Amino acid sequence: MLSNSLAELDRRHLIHPVSSFRGHEQRGVRILTGGQGATVTDSEGRSLIDGFAGLWCVNAGYGHESIVEAAAEQMRKLPYATGYFDLGAEAPIRLAAALAERAPGDLNHVYFTLGGSDAVDSTIRFIRYYWHAKGQPGRDQFISVANGYHGSTTMGAGLTALPGFHDGFGVPYDWQHKISSHYLYRNPLGSDPQVVTDASVAELRAKIEAIGPDRVAAFYVEPIQGSGGVLVPPQGWVKAMRDLCAEYGVLFVADEVITGFGRTGPLFACQDEGIVPDLMTTAKGLTSGYVPMGAVLMRDHVYETIADGAGAKAVGHGFTYSAHPVSAAVALEVLALYEGGLLENGRRAGARLQAGLESLRDHPLVGDVRGRGMLAAVELVVDKDAKTPLPPEVQPATRLFDRAWEQGLVVRSFAQGIFGYAPPLCCTDEQIDQIVARTRKVLDLTLEDPEIRAVLR
Ligand code: PLP
Repeated sequence: MLSNSLAELDRRHLIHPVSSFRGHEQRGVRILTGGQGATVTDSEGRSLIDGFAGLWCVNAGYGHESIVEAAAEQMRKLPYATGYFDLGAEAPIRLAAALAERAPGDLNHVYFTLGGSDAVDSTIRFIRYYWHAKGQPGRDQFISVANGYHGSTTMGAGLTALPGFHDGFGVPYDWQHKISSHYLYRNPLGSDPQVVTDASVAELRAKIEAIGPDRVAAFYVEPIQGSGGVLVPPQGWVKAMRDLCAEYGVLFVADEVITGFGRTGPLFACQDEGIVPDLMTTAKGLTSGYVPMGAVLMRDHVYETIADGAGAKAVGHGFTYSAHPVSAAVALEVLALYEGGLLENGRRAGARLQAGLESLRDHPLVGDVRGRGMLAAVELVVDKDAKTPLPPEVQPATRLFDRAWEQGLVVRSFAQGIFGYAPPLCCTDEQIDQIVARTRKVLDLTLEDPEIRAVLR
């Protein structure tokens, strides 16, 4: 007789995203049952601080009745309206206008998607269309940055530069190119910000020249690389890359799926850099994860070129759930919460988080601490001088994740032995201090772990 327990049903039927199918069958599922503010509870009654805001998305925190109300009201009134056939609904129109008003420069035109991956995918399609409309269809080559993540649709996964998203999937395509990451802690050129920035500019220039300046369509950047291990570029790096793209007329795309909506302090991280990308992608914090939604923002010149190019013809790109009214109603309420105090709280809490994590540098296992605002990483090593990472055989990702969970902390644990932090912006000082204290406890326990001791130098 097959067991009917949730864990058993999960094992038999639910495919988890980005997971080892076999590994998950063995480990089983941890079931979350509730959330309030910055804490979540699991099915065993444990209360945990969510130091990762779900998947870098629940920026507003859990349990906001006003968000629930906004969704319910929209569902009661009008749960769905298509944007096809010149139709629409109030909430997505108001949301598009609100984003355009707040986004840098003339990013005035908004295309709503269901999440980040299809936002990235949409930019690829719009950019191809843009260059056709400009009479330069040969501009069909795309460049992104090593360690970058731009989603896992077929085309976006090829811009992503993490092997796990390529191997066995037949991507990247030959029109998708990469330059090296800035990754200051492990950059072979050292950690001098100017040296690294100059080298990246030179490499991108060389790449554009090698492909052919009249062939390059766009360059993609995360203002802070997230899934690659929270890699913060040197101050001025993003601007230098943006300027180089402008020099060559290459479209510059800022992928703000993680960094948007207060994660680094301002509403968008591009505002930290004082730059205006040609296109911007967002998702996650847009609805704070309460419902799915993403958005592509485009500058006037991109919109106008596409519009003129198409003329009376339809631009054949769209989803049934583009500009979903319920998601838009949620996003409008989430935006009101950000501007009603959450952004400000996030900035205060972010400074405390960065200072707190910095204090862990004295720990024998800590090689690097980096971040900005409510986005951070602690990179573990077994030898500080040689910067030797935890070896894969000790399975750092699951080992560290499990140990943190036991201490009441949800934290992202990357395969290389990096802790990633992206707590909700509503965190109290006490919760931030607990994130740091629990991390130290996890580090101490890891240091005592016989399997870790065996690889320590
Ligand atoms: N772009 C970036 C920078 C991301 O971090 C992510 C997801 O983490 C995506 C795109 C894809 O977003 P989604 O998972 O909503 O499809």
